[in-house]
Amino acid sequence: MTKVEILGVKIDNLSLQEILEKVSQFLESKNQHFIVTPNPEFLVAAEKDKNFKEILNYADIVCADGIGLIYAAKFLGKILWRTTGVDLLWAICHLAEQKNCSIYFLGAAEGVAEKTVAVLKKYFPHLIIAGAQSGGLIADPKQIESRLIYEISKTKPKIIFVALGQVKQEKWIFYHLDKLPSVKVAIGVGGAFDYLAGEVNRAPEIIRTLGLEWLYRLINQPGRLKRVINAVVIFPFLIIKSKIFPKNID
Ligand code: UDP
Repeated sequence: MTKVEILGVKIDNLSLQEILEKVSQFLESKNQHFIVTPNPEFLVAAEKDKNFKEILNYADIVCADGIGLIYAAKFLGKILWRTTGVDLLWAICHLAEQKNCSIYFLGAAEGVAEKTVAVLKKYFPHLIIAGAQSGGLIADPKQIESRLIYEISKTKPKIIFVALGQVKQEKWIFYHLDKLPSVKVAIGVGGAFDYLAGEVNRAPEIIRTLGLEWLYRLINQPGRLKRVINAVVIFPFLIIKSKIFPKNID
């Protein structure tokens, strides 16, 4: 499988179709699997947090979500497919409906996971929903929350979507997946529930195609300024630095 290494994170160059074929195999397998969908902010965070970088590289599939990663790969002379968390979630719901695999929706603010399920049910009426709940504000994703783990595990989901925000959701999956033995595929989906539930408007298609979704989100959510700076200033700086001084990174 082709991997493209950017700032020490090995990203899979897989199309959505190829990802789905793998997910389909994962669902039949005895083992547990973990999918991450990094964008440039993930890689900036991973530069400062080695544990997070190890977790990203430990994942079974690392798919590029974020146009910045595609541009960075190009700049480094490589090619990467882009698959957004929302598109992946949608495609996996379609697959899960066909395969009768139940899904648990964990994360986002109170009531948003339930709203997400209601929206998805309109498009995937036979989708088996194991459960849906907000995980609340997670201070330390390593900490064991027995009640939450118990509530999820008793519904025996095959797939879990975790929307606790980047870094927290990947750490949460990494540290707790083994306590949810029925889960074959766990995916960190960031703000996907917010989009699907209509809490946040997704940028129009044309803006997404132009790679300007970050600008649209900044205008609509000015609180994201620090993250936008990480994505459009710090990340390109680190990429240029990694090209000029390849051995000084990591
Ligand atoms: N979130 C959460 N608990 C937390 C932090 C975040 O449930 O402790 C949720 C938040 O409500 C949102 C989602 O995680 O629905 C994604 O958050 P954000 O937009 O900050 O991250 P990103 O989309 O970049 O992963």
